[in-house]
Amino acid sequence: MSRLAVRECHRTMLNTRDLHTFRKQLLAWFRQFRRDLPWRRTRDPYHIWLSEIMLQQTRVAAVIPYYERFVDRFPNVHALAEAPEEEVLRLWSGLGYYSRARNLQKTAQQIAVKYGGQFPTQFDEALDLPGIGKYTAAAILSIAHGRKHAVLDGNVARVLARLGAIRGDLRESRRWQELQRVADAYLDPESPGDWNQAMMELGATLCAPKSPQCLLCPVAQFCEGRKLGIAESLPEKRKKRPTVEVTLAAAVFVDAGGLTFLLSPSREENKKAAADHIPTLVSRMWHFPTVSVMGNPAVQLRRFLQDSLSSAKHAKLQLEPLGRVRHSVTYRAITISPFLVKVNRLLRVRGAKRVPLLEVSSLPVSNLTRKVARAALAAATPPSKKC
Ligand code: SF4
Repeated sequence: MSRLAVRECHRTMLNTRDLHTFRKQLLAWFRQFRRDLPWRRTRDPYHIWLSEIMLQQTRVAAVIPYYERFVDRFPNVHALAEAPEEEVLRLWSGLGYYSRARNLQKTAQQIAVKYGGQFPTQFDEALDLPGIGKYTAAAILSIAHGRKHAVLDGNVARVLARLGAIRGDLRESRRWQELQRVADAYLDPESPGDWNQAMMELGATLCAPKSPQCLLCPVAQFCEGRKLGIAESLPEKRKKRPTVEVTLAAAVFVDAGGLTFLLSPSREENKKAAADHIPTLVSRMWHFPTVSVMGNPAVQLRRFLQDSLSSAKHAKLQLEPLGRVRHSVTYRAITISPFLVKVNRLLRVRGAKRVPLLEVSSLPVSNLTRKVARAALAAATPPSKKC
């Protein structure tokens, strides 16, 4: 980060009187107009933590029903810690990024053992927990316990960048650290929880990535980006990670009664997972037999099935193509060719789960697996459902 950029960050600092007005106006706006969200009706750190994890990479409207079901089934840390992992994943199923659910439960187990089920009140203790970074720790501790820690995520960084007319890649390490210092300086020490939520709310509503509604903004008079007419162009675009194309083929076995089988989630911890690493792509959930392919998908899938499933070694498998399904996971653009394999009797596969094809989506499966199941369902209506 250049010296100029650091100086630009410092420009966001207001004098004492302006800072007082800035805080007062933003807090008053938040208290009057804030959205009524289920996790805002409580100060229970468990509920706030849950909502923060669910909201990562996911829209508020999509999170609400999941949050409500989760809280209903796991009303406290102990209930979550003691639940079967499969049930946790089932209630998470559809939200994506399943490592969040696993970390959530792992963390609940640590909190149950180490802190008697109470979320820690110290920042460093919270940071030591799996899946809790600085942003999440600051959000939970400020909202639940009134601790003076300022949040900084993409939304808040955008607001700060516009307020201070800060150019460049905000995620660049030194610039991000400087933004954190600015966020800390702005934090209202009297109401850190409301303050953090107000900054997030401004970023999520009026100061949205596209078309900021500056005319309605409670702090427009302090906004350098608006004054310079460059608010909408900030933050400047980051260099995108290049997309990796991944091509897969999957087999959906279906017997005469409409039953299929799914392979069990892999326990393999592969820290350097390749872009086409199957357990990574299916998020270590229940999945159809799937293989990465480079040439003819039917040929490679048949070979994979015969090599990896001993009961398929000598079976005559008719692979019926189901077209192509597209899916993306972060920087990976996946094209999957599913094949329907009709059999009189399902193969016996160790650890596999048999389930009606119609009910695959009720299991903890990835969105990729759901799409494959939908493609297979469209082609094979189970006889039991025909009448
Ligand atoms: S004036 Fe506009 S750009 Fe500036 S903080 Fe408010 S909404 Fe965002």
